[in-house]
Amino acid sequence: MTLEQVRALVRPNIARLTPYSTARDEYKGTLGIFLDANESPYSTGYNRYPDPHQKALKQRLSEIKGVPVESIFVGNGSDEAIDLVFRVFCTPGVDNVVAIEPSYGMYAVCAAINDVAVRGVALGEDFSLPVDAVLAACDAHTKAIFLCSPNNPSGNAFAREDLLYIVRNAPAMVVVDEAYIDFCDQPSLRFEVEKEPNLVVYQTLSKAWGLAGLRLGLAFAHPEVIARMSQVKYPYNISALTQKTVIKALESPIDAQVKEIVAERARVARELKSLPCVLKVYLSQANFLLVKVTDADALYDLLVSRGVIVRNRNKVKGCAGCLRITIGLKEENDQMLDVLKNFKV
Ligand SMILES: *Cc1c(COP(=O)(O)O)cnc(C)c1O
Repeated sequence: MTLEQVRALVRPNIARLTPYSTARDEYKGTLGIFLDANESPYSTGYNRYPDPHQKALKQRLSEIKGVPVESIFVGNGSDEAIDLVFRVFCTPGVDNVVAIEPSYGMYAVCAAINDVAVRGVALGEDFSLPVDAVLAACDAHTKAIFLCSPNNPSGNAFAREDLLYIVRNAPAMVVVDEAYIDFCDQPSLRFEVEKEPNLVVYQTLSKAWGLAGLRLGLAFAHPEVIARMSQVKYPYNISALTQKTVIKALESPIDAQVKEIVAERARVARELKSLPCVLKVYLSQANFLLVKVTDADALYDLLVSRGVIVRNRNKVKGCAGCLRITIGLKEENDQMLDVLKNFKV
């Protein structure tokens, strides 16, 4: 898709929007006597508004991710980036999006909140990506396709060529949610956003980076798409405390922890496969395992009664009989396995 075609996907009211200009947009210096934003002059450490453009944080993220600052959006979790795709591109009550099923529940919830219809496309056998069905589900009102790779809750990653085929042939924006990319043996698609202006790649600091409580989600896209998202976001969407704390946290590498989780994922999968109550352990490229069991509801209740909380996906389309189990510390995983070992099939 050309940049011209992407521009044509933007909601007309957003294309016409004059965004809010903050006091910090109008005077960009850092030294001086600041009497422009009605802040308190008494220092609390937080009496000044935060940088609405998150320049220092984006600079660090740019170095770590190898993507220019202009191609990076940071939001209050990926949730904000998901919502912004609806608010920038989808006219409520008129437009629709296409989403794979099963996948992350927030796409459909966000669509419903924005009064945008979702055209669900079922994944194939063992959760494979039905490339042609995804494209065939689009019509003239489809503004975005939501893909998630590695996918939650199935755990599998889709082939890069298939994802790019959809990006190159879709009449809409294509979101690839890479929340679990750090646990995956395939490279990220974020380096393609310059060449593919209809591609938006989401990542998050909530999983491998261990910062779920801070709320920081990333979106990588063509600078024009990032500019649109930035015009629509709340001006001060990332607090000063979060910006400062994340910059500090980004100094501690996560490679060793990621390696440990990936090794534990293999061990736990092996152990689960040997249990009579386990029918199937799906291949995972994420920090969780989707497990088909003989009686998901009974096993879920048993685990809860022993203080082990997993996600029961039994009622999710395509996941009947399945539990989604996050990989924890070795001792935690062992306790989970112990409960399952003692279940009478
Ligand atoms: C956990 C998860 C996220 C992260 O959301 P945040 O709002 O950044 O915490 C995003 N997408 C998927 C598919 C997830 O599973």
